[in-house]
Amino acid sequence: MADCLFCRIVSGELPAERVYEDADVVAFRDINPAAPVHVLVVPRRHVATLTDAGDGEVDLLGRVLAAAAKVAGQEGLSERGFRSVINTGPDAQQSVQHVHVHVLGGRSMTWPPG
Ligand code: AMP
Repeated sequence: MADCLFCRIVSGELPAERVYEDADVVAFRDINPAAPVHVLVVPRRHVATLTDAGDGEVDLLGRVLAAAAKVAGQEGLSERGFRSVINTGPDAQQSVQHVHVHVLGGRSMTWPPG
């Protein structure tokens, strides 16, 4: 989608520090990190929110989650662990309307989130 920020990063039109990519998924560092490691893992294909994902996206979402685990490994987070977050809609403060998994790690976290 031409006016989607993450579609523009995926296409290379906008810069980002990419840490992983494959045929279906791109991962890049969050511009405003909330932890020592903060990577966003996104599908190349535009899907606005998890609510918009249907049966046709099951495989793609699986690939995004598998990529998130791969990125966590690459970033040295497999042993201590990491948090993976998908914000969906206004109550969850989703600010970019292109499904993305936040991979956060490198520090101890609290629960529940705010
Ligand atoms: P969310 O609030 O869950 O929709 O997450 C969107 C995330 O995108 C936020 O953590 C932002 O810091 C991040 N973000 C916004 N613009 C950029 C950008 N140009 N490059 C990398 N991350 C970005």
